Amino acid sequence: MTGPTISVRALSKSFYDEFRGEVRAVDGIDFACLPGQIFGLLGANGAGKTTTLRMLATILKPTSGEASLLGHDVVADPEAVRRNLGFYSASTALYPRLTARETLEFFARVNRYPGERVTERVDYLVERFGIAEYADARVDKLSSGMKQKVSIARTVAHDPPVLIFDEPTVGLDVLNALEMQDVIRHLRDDGKTILFSTHIMSEAEKLCDHIAIIHRGKILASNTLDGMRRDTGKHYLEDIFVAYVGGRKEIEAAERAALGAQER
Ligand code: ATP
Repeated sequence: MTGPTISVRALSKSFYDEFRGEVRAVDGIDFACLPGQIFGLLGANGAGKTTTLRMLATILKPTSGEASLLGHDVVADPEAVRRNLGFYSASTALYPRLTARETLEFFARVNRYPGERVTERVDYLVERFGIAEYADARVDKLSSGMKQKVSIARTVAHDPPVLIFDEPTVGLDVLNALEMQDVIRHLRDDGKTILFSTHIMSEAEKLCDHIAIIHRGKILASNTLDGMRRDTGKHYLEDIFVAYVGGRKEIEAAERAALGAQER
């Protein structure tokens, strides 16, 4: 197939909030992830990242607009989307009584990875994700960083071509976060298309082939880092981000509006 792996057109999602009324969490966004790209969706708290990714993963239905993954529409053909997708978010669950290795085996089989190759696949993942030391420990005995790595590994156990990771490094210590960045690069080198969200500028700067900046539910810029540098005349992504969003005060105001709503 030629053309984008993930295609998003005029996609919107509104929620009804008791205090704010209609909240346009995602407000008519367009973007496309090309095959083999690491595409970063960059935004502050409450910008609309999770809502966007959850629509692509077929967990939430869009209010309007369209999105497709490898040509499969997320609303019309959610099963085909899920077959081709590994989705990680903070709510990706593990079974506490299984070991890390058993977890990977279980999710490979459930997602119909060829039975005769499961062991080989699990060995590969254990090595790739750096979880060998605790592969045979029960998940409930692991630290939260270790659990997070196992959670991400289990979302790719069936070797899907498209990966969507919602803030994959949040909560990881520096070394584990760096390791996870390496894993993401290796997955790209294996030919995967990866869309991930982050609010960590250095991470987006280092990892992404393409970056989309989302703010108050809208995409304000979608470009390579070099393209964004040319557009704004700034070098560091932090400064680029502030320039597109319209200043630090605006970022704070948007975060307050979103967080206030979540805490009420
Ligand atoms: P974070 O990094 O804080 O998770 P985010 O960029 O992922 O932020 P979303 O979680 O997509 O942002 O939230 C976008 C907006 O939608 C916020 O204003 C949030 O309060 C609102 N929102 C999200 N889910 C709901 C819901 N179920 N009901 C009402 N409002 C919601």
